[in-house]
Amino acid sequence: MKRIALLGATGSIGRQALEIIAANAELELVAAASGSQPIDGLAPLTSVGGDVEELLEEARPDVVLNAIVGFAGLPATVWALERGVTLALANKESLVAAGELALAAKRRGGGLLLPVDSEHSALLQCLEGRAAEQVESVVLTASGGPFRGRSREELDDVGPEQALAHPTWQMGRKITVDSATLANKGLELIEAHFLFGLPYGRIDVVVHPTSVVHAIVRFRDGAALAHLGYPDMRVPISFALTYPDRVPTPVPSLDLSRALVLEFEPPDLNTFPLLRLAREAGERGGTLPCVFNAANEVAVDAFLDGRIPFLAIADVVAEALAAADGAPARDLDELVEVDAEARRVAAGAHV
Ligand code: NAD
Ligand code: MG
Repeated sequence: MKRIALLGATGSIGRQALEIIAANAELELVAAASGSQPIDGLAPLTSVGGDVEELLEEARPDVVLNAIVGFAGLPATVWALERGVTLALANKESLVAAGELALAAKRRGGGLLLPVDSEHSALLQCLEGRAAEQVESVVLTASGGPFRGRSREELDDVGPEQALAHPTWQMGRKITVDSATLANKGLELIEAHFLFGLPYGRIDVVVHPTSVVHAIVRFRDGAALAHLGYPDMRVPISFALTYPDRVPTPVPSLDLSRALVLEFEPPDLNTFPLLRLAREAGERGGTLPCVFNAANEVAVDAFLDGRIPFLAIADVVAEALAAADGAPARDLDELVEVDAEARRVAAGAHV
């Protein structure tokens, strides 16, 4: 039996994880947390908007599935990594923001960090634990979101409703907007850097509208391995929860008797500058990824509330990055302060 703590149980990932857990006799839900929606009776231990560290201390899980959205997921990520408790990580924002501090906690704890993000789960499976020097580069695929192919002018007046209409994935509101701006792929670029220890120059992003190829690894001998499957998060969730085993899921395997379109095109960094800003923040390092994430969270909230236009999301993030010195945080308290300062700057940004 694996004892699972599910954080973010009412969300898009959380609900799909509940389905996977319910279908597997060897997975036992011992604790569940949500931000605000009630979850009474969902697990022996539950917490709504409470202290997740307290919940985890009491639950003593074998696996923490962190499916909280945003920087709010940081305490759970650090809790699991420090203790060597397997961390199934959907909450990419915590790894992006904490970066080296999270990796140091992982080294101390000595446990597993298994990505739930589909592209990173795909990379993990293609890499099979091979050393970084055998890898020439890795490729993250992006659907391109609902605004693929549009020019900046055509995005001047798009609102939340259009940004929330994602062509291939059904997800929470924040990540859906991030997919429309390509900030999500920017976060994933930084996530891949920390997960796989690769320099940014060896992590590419390519637009692939049908979302069937999740990632590609190019090896130094000229071979490239790709991971294919229908876009359905139950596959990477199941992989992380049952690792190193693979169990059946309700997701059908690829049907090659029907036409299957596998197109790839470079991302349009002019129309979607957040991908470029994320790469720059990652390459410059220090706390700039934390600033990128914090400002993006504030800007996405403002966009969803109708307070700023779509194209201003990137302007808010650019302004916060320009105002930050990026000096590395020595500990989590300093990181939390950097996050808070970036949020203040982003909230007052002149867009
Ligand atoms: P969502 O908005 O649907 O759900 C978020 C969940 O987090 C909810 O249960 C909410 O109650 C909970 N939550 C928020 N703040 C909390 C707090 N302070 N304490 C405890 N719980 C809190 O989001 P989602 O789409 O499920 O995404 C969750 C995470 O997974 C994000 O980091 C996202 O980037 C990542 N992710 C999601 C998908 C997807 O398909 N939805 C794919 C890849 C990665
Ligand atoms: Mg992803």
